[in-house]
Amino acid sequence: MANTCIFCGTKLPRFGQEKLLCGNVFQSVCGQCRKALWDLSQEERGQRALDTGRAADPEQIEAFLRESREAAQREREAVLTDKVCLRCGKPMLRYGRKLIQLGSEGLFGPVTRDGIFSDWLEVDILRCEGCGKAEFFIPGPSEPPQPQKEEEQVTCPVCGARHSPLIGCPSCAVRLAQSGQRLRSSGEDTPQRETPRKPPWEK
Ligand SMILES: [Zn+2]
Ligand SMILES: [Zn+2]
Ligand SMILES: [Zn+2]
Repeated sequence: MANTCIFCGTKLPRFGQEKLLCGNVFQSVCGQCRKALWDLSQEERGQRALDTGRAADPEQIEAFLRESREAAQREREAVLTDKVCLRCGKPMLRYGRKLIQLGSEGLFGPVTRDGIFSDWLEVDILRCEGCGKAEFFIPGPSEPPQPQKEEEQVTCPVCGARHSPLIGCPSCAVRLAQSGQRLRSSGEDTPQRETPRKPPWEK
């Protein structure tokens, strides 16, 4: 039975038979069918092999198709939003967060974000899974919190470390504490007093 192409039934040579992975299972195919099916996805090939009723290991192909359907379902659920398409009413899926270059006369006119004119606009793109209509949403200032906290950090003029403006420089604090210990433990009669440069927040 493995001597015929499962797709067209052509008798195959005894040696040098062509094989094609269909739904993750190797199937005996003729050269023509192999060429015709080559560009199809593994899922599509598996389904077509099953449809012939002549596929080897059909249970394995079915298991493969089931798994990839479930994986696709999980992927969809991960990007599914509660918004629906204004055009066709189908669910909108998250398409990713992108930076759009606006130029001087941008797509949406000049844009202010946090009071700063910007040539770049950060948008969340949603795409309708039915008709492909896309919508742009500008993320609120509360999200994402991490990168904004990063931007708010200040550079210590003494040591160059980046830290929150709400606290003193932590690395300078460590350094001062360590030099203090060194002075105490040196035991010299006239310890050279390193004049500790005042960190800028101590007025
Ligand atoms: Zn064939
Ligand atoms: Zn739509
Ligand atoms: Zn510092």
